[in-house]
Amino acid sequence: MRVGVHTSIAGALVNAVRHAKEIGCDTFQIFSANPRGWKAREPTPAQYEQFRAERAASGLGPLVIHDNYLINLASADRLIREKSVAAFRKEIQRALALEADYLVMHPGSAKGGTVGGAIRLCAESMKKAARGLTLDGLTILVENTAGQGSTIGRSFEEVAQILSLADGLPLGVCLDTAHCFEAGYPIHTQKGLARTLQQAGSTFGVERVRAVHANDSKTAFGSHSDRHEHIGKGRIGLAAFRRIVNHPALKFLPFICETPLDEPGDDRRNISALRKLAGRSPSPARRRKRGGARKAGKS
Ligand SMILES: [Zn+2]
Ligand SMILES: [Zn+2]
Repeated sequence: MRVGVHTSIAGALVNAVRHAKEIGCDTFQIFSANPRGWKAREPTPAQYEQFRAERAASGLGPLVIHDNYLINLASADRLIREKSVAAFRKEIQRALALEADYLVMHPGSAKGGTVGGAIRLCAESMKKAARGLTLDGLTILVENTAGQGSTIGRSFEEVAQILSLADGLPLGVCLDTAHCFEAGYPIHTQKGLARTLQQAGSTFGVERVRAVHANDSKTAFGSHSDRHEHIGKGRIGLAAFRRIVNHPALKFLPFICETPLDEPGDDRRNISALRKLAGRSPSPARRRKRGGARKAGKS
């Protein structure tokens, strides 16, 4: 099991590698530029080189890049869409220069248009952004969303449609646990998790999930409101995360926390919470039995 967090590139790209190593990550995610500005300051060849060298030496992997929040490849507004395509092309180029394994992207928003139209635009824009580039070793992961506002990708069907319309590109899925829950996939119960993964299987295919964003949720089931919480401290809960990290279809995937940083040490605590859950994996039946034995021993 490989666990990590989204780490900051503040100061220099390479700081993310150092910080990830320091807090005990196996894998990590970064923004390759300021996530809230259109004008990214492109790293210099020397900065790329330093990042690649330190990352190789660190043994950290896979490396996941998250795309800029402003990008909306599905926008009905042509100017925003063109800006987004140009910015996403830069995302791909930086990811290649950093030798990243995955580039996670948000499908975008259908505001001002229809959901079907937005899905088509998203796929078209992705292809346009990647035109002429060789995505050597880089896979683009479409992230499922909480369905806040007019965002697309809230259902597995929508994610699957984007994947099939953008075929020809190396594509996969990044499954965000908080987004699943907030979008109305009952991953917090045992049966619900099984059903959710069945639905993943009958839409885009579970094998296309290449990374998990491991986030608990501050908001209620089906709320369509995207607010992350520390592992086990939210509405999804610890028992559900134990089932998630130990599920045969998920347990070999990289788990990346995008949990809040309220206090120093939060990232470290979330990583160790996931590790603990994966390390101790008694089946529910065994746990009950053991609990029973302890009770019996006491009485
Ligand atoms: Zn995301
Ligand atoms: Zn996420």
